[in-house]
Amino acid sequence: MLDDVLAAPFVQEMVHITREMYNHGWDERNGGNISLLLSPEELAPYSCCLHVQRELPLGFCAPALAGRTLLVTGTGKYFKNVSADPAAHLGIIRISPTGDTASLLWGFSDGGTYTSELPAHLASHAQRLARDAQHRVIMHCHPTNILAMTFVHSLDEREFTRSLWRMCTECMMVFPDGIAVLPWMMCGTESIGQATAEKMKESRLVVWAQHGIYAAGKCLDEAFGLIETVEKAAAVYMKIAHLTCINTISDEQLLEIATSYGVCPRAGYLNI
Ligand code: 13P
Ligand code: ZN
Repeated sequence: MLDDVLAAPFVQEMVHITREMYNHGWDERNGGNISLLLSPEELAPYSCCLHVQRELPLGFCAPALAGRTLLVTGTGKYFKNVSADPAAHLGIIRISPTGDTASLLWGFSDGGTYTSELPAHLASHAQRLARDAQHRVIMHCHPTNILAMTFVHSLDEREFTRSLWRMCTECMMVFPDGIAVLPWMMCGTESIGQATAEKMKESRLVVWAQHGIYAAGKCLDEAFGLIETVEKAAAVYMKIAHLTCINTISDEQLLEIATSYGVCPRAGYLNI
């Protein structure tokens, strides 16, 4: 039995990734939030220090996640400061059997609570788990170039995806399933949460126009890598959007990348 949740690999990984995200400029002030599904095996060594501290009403219902345990970032917490006091900035919550409340098992030591975007996180977890049993992470943040692109590019998700695929050869390998786009909606609400989850049925990436991005992954690194790749492509787009392009990656070349890497481009997205 280990009695130090702070030393748990999943807490250490969360501390590391929040620092990286802050250093990339994706999480100003309290911007961004992460949730990580934890397995009974991962939690078992720490069971002696995981006790119900408080009940945290959800205000919505997440029956698909009933009984599941997650490590989540706290609302209003600055990613810049997570490493200085992980127990105040992070919390381990367990969703009740009815899916409408959560028990705090560890963390939020200053009386805080889970991220305001929990509706989007839980609904997105449910959709991704239905497609991929290995799924574990939902990550949200505010990368500058993705945000900028939503002001100057059409929000049509096929067009948005095609523009990004053409910006770097790697994009087709990393997100062949494309990127979904939601128009501006009020954040923190159940309706943006449901709309995000609906998009997650087909794509692991969802852009929130004039706000930021959501990514789903099997691990923190995978979700981070998806956002990192999209943000790089968006940065190239914003550098060249006002210039005359004399070269591009053609649809035939995009298909060649997909074939050579054994990935399947989103159906109907290539003009071939
Ligand atoms: P929280 O501080 O509640 O996680 O909100 C940050 C954010 O990015 C809202 O979209
Ligand atoms: Zn946000």
